[in-house]
This record gives sequence, structure tokens and C-alpha cells, in this order.
Amino acid sequence: MEKVIIIRYSELHLKGKNRGWFERVFAVNMEKSLKGIKHEIHRHSGRYLIENFDESDIQLICDKLKKVFGIHSYSVALKVSTDMEEMFNAAEKVSFKEGSFKVETHRADKSFPLNSMQISAEIGGKLLDANEKLKVDVHNPQFIINIDLRENGTALVFNEFFKGAGGMPVGTSGKGLLLISGGIDSPVAGYMIAKRGMVLDGIHFHSYPYTNMQAKEKVIELAKTLSAYTCGMNLHIVSVTHIQEEIHKKCNGDFMVTLLRRFMMRLAEKVVEKCGAQCLITGESLAQVASQTVEGMTSSNSVIKCLPVLRPLCGFDKDEIIERSRLIGTYEISIQPYEDCCTVFLPKHPVTRPKMAEVLAEEAKLDVDNLLNEALSTLEIIKI
Ligand code: ATP
Ligand code: MG
Repeated sequence: MEKVIIIRYSELHLKGKNRGWFERVFAVNMEKSLKGIKHEIHRHSGRYLIENFDESDIQLICDKLKKVFGIHSYSVALKVSTDMEEMFNAAEKVSFKEGSFKVETHRADKSFPLNSMQISAEIGGKLLDANEKLKVDVHNPQFIINIDLRENGTALVFNEFFKGAGGMPVGTSGKGLLLISGGIDSPVAGYMIAKRGMVLDGIHFHSYPYTNMQAKEKVIELAKTLSAYTCGMNLHIVSVTHIQEEIHKKCNGDFMVTLLRRFMMRLAEKVVEKCGAQCLITGESLAQVASQTVEGMTSSNSVIKCLPVLRPLCGFDKDEIIERSRLIGTYEISIQPYEDCCTVFLPKHPVTRPKMAEVLAEEAKLDVDNLLNEALSTLEIIKI
């Protein structure tokens, strides 16, 4: 009696003509996440089966699969032949030792001599005979024994459905560049967009030596955690030290964050061209801090020529974002106390509703093109 894992996928059925392509991307992503672990993946009438793994790896495999977008649910099942005795033995193995239950049979093999109801009744009856602590409750059972008779003479027997990560397979919705700081929000923003099928690259800006090397290590750790969901990513790292020094020296300090954001967007747009992404993603949430007002977003958006900027957290409260970051495993890394570049030279009274005329007047004091080229010359790419 072999253990297998049944994988059911999410919204792929919505995609009509593209369905074959979606399924291929999905299967490749599962392969990538299980790389290095012995297994085989087979497609099986509208679902996938993972087979031929070592039983000692089962938890590891399930933990990896929990991070693959596109999986709606999965079950660990026993695979047997469609012989009544064998199916009963498997049902007994997955059954609880006491409580109320029902048997639900799905019969793809219509040539099987008994119909679904008859199979359920017979196996349910034998389970009752074998264990007096069990009783049948078809309306509100404590557990359900599922028997799935396939066309190829095998049956899958299982008692639990585990929720998968949901969403769409990464690689079916284009590519985005995530502006990733060391904070709580941006990794969550990346997770949410990857969940809708987008491949991610990251870009991080640092102000070394004002910020230390641990701040950079922290972002690499965050990118690693995120990349378990995104099937890897490239992290682009750019120094904005000289840009911040120049703003500090030449401009009204209250505009530090506003001006720096505009530089970040311009630099990100240049990196988009290099890495083949189609949009930017930020972790901004409306009204969360002084710079995250609609006026602040207008100011930073206006330097971008024609790229969408996705801000999936705009409608979230901080506690909702924290809850998600705990779930995806980035929270404990994000709260490590290393400074982000934005906190260096931070003004006491940052402008909250910057007027474009004032922003442009402050920016005119800087040699923008030169500062951009200089920052881009520090670009380092780390393959995660
Ligand atoms: P986070 O928790 O993601 O750092 P935050 O609440 O600290 O967000 P801000 O510091 O205002 O907010 O940053 C808003 C967004 O700008 C971030 O979510 C991120 O997308 C981007 N950003 C900020 N700092 C950096 C940085 N050093 N490198 C790359 N992107 C950054
Ligand atoms: Mg931040």
C-alpha cells in the first residue's frame, strides 16, 4: 500500500485555451520546489499525483508544496488496486479509531461492478463490523473516508483535505520588480503579487556606510524567504548614499523622503529595462506614514514614464500586514533592528502632502542625471 499526495489546483480551469500552458508552468513550479527530494509527479485526470517518494520525506514535501501557488488543496492518500478487500484495508488505515463517519466514493471507472453508493455502503458496513467505537452519520460526520476509483484500476483512499497556498502559478502573470526594504510591508506586497502568478525580481537601496552590512544581509534573508514562493529571484542592490548626501546638503531637509522616493522610482525603472520586468511593486499602504499619502504617491509616480506601480497593501491596516508576514515567515526577519536607508537623514517634520511645484524646485538643486548614473554604477545582482 503506497502513500501518494493528491494535488488539486485552483483557478486554472478558468483559463480556457491557455489551460495546457498554465498546467505546464504549474508542474514545473512543483518540480522546482521539490528539487533534490526523490519523487515523481504525474498528471491524473484534472489533478496531479506525487508518487514514489520516501515516506520519511512526506512532511518535507508537504511543507514545500504549501508554498506553491496554484495549489487549491492536497491530500495524503493510500494507493491500492480497485479490489474491495484492498480498498477496505486502506479505509481502515485512514479511519479514526472512534467517532462518527461516512464513506464518500467517487467512481471514474464506470465499468466497476458496484456503483459509488454500493461501494460506500459495503466498505462503511465492514468498518462498523470491525470497530464498535465507530458509527455512521451521513449528515454531520466527524470524519469522511474518501475513496476515489480511477480508470486505471487504482483507488486512492484518504480522509483529509489540506488547504494549499491558492492563487495562480508563478510565471503565468508576467514579471514585476519589487522595491524591497528591510521592513515588514514590502515582502508581504511581493508575496501577494506573486500569489497572482507574477515572477518577481527585487531591488533594494542602501546607504552604506550610514547603514551597516547587516541591513543588507537582512534583505537577502527576506528575499530568500520570499523566493520559496516565487521559485527564486534576482535581487538588485543599489547604493543611494551619495544621493542622500546631496539632498541633505542642497535641499530643504523636510523633502528628504519625498525626493529620495523619486530617485528610487527612477532607478527601479532603469533596472526594469535591464531585467525584463513589466511593473513596479511597493509595500506602501495609504496613510500608514507621512510619506504614504496620495500626494506622496503622485510625486513618486510622476517620474515614471509608463509603468504600472502595483501597491497591493494600500487598503490594509498594519496589523493585517503583520498577520500575513507572520504566516509567510518574514516577520521575525523584518523586525530585526537594522536601519533602512530612509531613516538616515530623516527629517523631524517630513512633508506629508508635497506640492509638485515645491518638489520640482527642490529637485532642481540637484544634478539628477549624474546622480542616477552614479547610483546605477553601484548595481550588484545577487541570484537568490
Ligand atoms: P516597509 O515595511 O516595506 O519598509 P514602510 O512602512 O517602512 O515599508 P516606507 O519606508 O515608507 O514604508 O517605504 C514604502 C515602500 O517603499 C516600501 O514598502 C518599499 O516598497 C519601498 N522602499 C522603502 N525603502 C526602500 C529601500 N531601502 N529599498 C527598496 N525599496 C524601499
Ligand atoms: Mg521601510
